[in-house]
Amino acid sequence: MSKLVGLNLIDPIDGSVLPDSVIEIDHGIVRSLESGFGESGPFAGMFAIPGLIDGHVHLTLDGGSSVRTTFQEASDDDLVRLALGNARTAAKAGVTLVRDCGWPRHLSRVLLEALRSDPLLPDVLSSGAPMTRLGGHCHFFGGEVADPSDALRLVDELADSGSDWLKVMVTGGGLTPGTRPQDVELSPEILGVVINRARTIGLGVAAHCHSLEGLRYCIDLGVDTVEHVTMLDEYGKPALDVALIERAANSGVAFGPTVWAAYKTAEWIRKSGPINPNDIHALERLDSRRSNVAAFHDVGVAMVAGTDAGATGTAFDSLAFELRCYVDAGLTPLEAIQTATTSAANSLRLPERGRVAPGKVSDIVVLRDNPLEDISRIANPVAVFRRGQEVRLD
Ligand SMILES: [Zn+2]
Repeated sequence: MSKLVGLNLIDPIDGSVLPDSVIEIDHGIVRSLESGFGESGPFAGMFAIPGLIDGHVHLTLDGGSSVRTTFQEASDDDLVRLALGNARTAAKAGVTLVRDCGWPRHLSRVLLEALRSDPLLPDVLSSGAPMTRLGGHCHFFGGEVADPSDALRLVDELADSGSDWLKVMVTGGGLTPGTRPQDVELSPEILGVVINRARTIGLGVAAHCHSLEGLRYCIDLGVDTVEHVTMLDEYGKPALDVALIERAANSGVAFGPTVWAAYKTAEWIRKSGPINPNDIHALERLDSRRSNVAAFHDVGVAMVAGTDAGATGTAFDSLAFELRCYVDAGLTPLEAIQTATTSAANSLRLPERGRVAPGKVSDIVVLRDNPLEDISRIANPVAVFRRGQEVRLD
């Protein structure tokens, strides 16, 4: 049994603060919470929030300027080392759980084993290799499928190799030449079949989607989360559709806006030219991701914070910047924190996460000052605890 004392503990459910708290931890689980004993400790008077959830990362990408090339040139050992280093960077930034949204098919077991062997790294939900059409978006991860039976084989293999999620590339993407973000690349027939199978065997379904047509399929067929949610028309131009967002909200589909990666990728393209020559409206598309969040917030659709860390120019300590983008789009700091705690836990089906409360996993981030007053304070935590154990930040 261990104790953390003297912290102002923030509950993201409602923004309430338990002053001068005593958090009792037993075997990585919060056993009890009390307040007002005046005990002093190294963190007395500071603020605590639950460990943060990053709902969209790519642990085997390096977040540099040419992530596709460096990935394809790396050895298997390099990729495992990179994933461990990236996970460590995220942990130091207060991220205690990540959902990987695409890594190499043949390394799935090895990566999970390596990442789970260090108790101070974030917990990892994996989607293995994202499902994509032949030559489709991110095909280099090895998840290409030609037809429904191929697709079902991949779903079963994912479950077998320890994945918790299925990632489907519903449209093309900015990273992959030969695809266009506005094109639906997995047929509704394949999507329907694989979503049913995923449901049956207990996998969540995350859909990469940049187009209005694809978003309609995602909502009607019942995915759990839609990633990016850039609503492009048939010409590849942003075309915000509020009625469709309302439909998503009413169906319980959550959105992962990945705004920071869009900002960083746009910055790169402005400086160095296009990444995917077919992606002719790339800058408009990327810029719209930020403004879309205001509409998501107005409608009240559930949001899961996700950085897309590993993508072009996007580091693994970017979650604070992602949350900052949400606040810039109109969320309060509390609402932004919810997207990486309570809301993320709810949409990613993690009932034991998202709050520091009796019975929950004791992942705790200590901040010098109150993040409810200024979301930027989430960057640079003073201390991070994983299941009650302190992560070394140096
Ligand atoms: Zn991604």
